[in-house]
Parts: sequence; structure tokens; C-alpha cells
Amino acid sequence: MKYLLVLAVVLAVIWFVRNHRRSDEPKQEPPRQDALAPPQDMVRCPVCSLHLPRADALPGRDGRLYCCADHRLRAED
Ligand SMILES: [Zn+2]
Repeated sequence: MKYLLVLAVVLAVIWFVRNHRRSDEPKQEPPRQDALAPPQDMVRCPVCSLHLPRADALPGRDGRLYCCADHRLRAED
């Protein structure tokens, strides 16, 4: 019976030490994806004044950039 008590105390100490050590580990923050994205050059559609990324804009024959084919047609009529 005495050994059972000693075993229980030893197991409790081991459990306490393992839990304590786990909480002491430095927590790594997950890398933020939005912080790594480079800023995008924005342009304004001359028809509807919508601001959109230059990569998504459609160039017209006059050299201006439009938000969609419909607005490009409307401006070139
Ligand atoms: Zn537009």
C-alpha cells in the first residue's frame, strides 16, 4: 500500500512537470499572408470611377484602362 502511494506521487510529479514544461514553450504565431502580399497599383475606370488593380483592368484603344469590356465599348463609341 505504501508503494502505491509513492507511485501515485511520482506519477503526479511527472504529470505536473510535463504540463508545466509544455506551457513554457514559446508560442509561434502563424505567418500572416496579407502582410507578405506586395501593394498593388490601382487604376480608376473613366466610365464608372471604379478603382481596381491594374492587373485586372482592360486597356482601351485610347490607352486608358477600364473595369470591364462593356465600359470599354461604351467609352469608345
Ligand atoms: Zn467601369
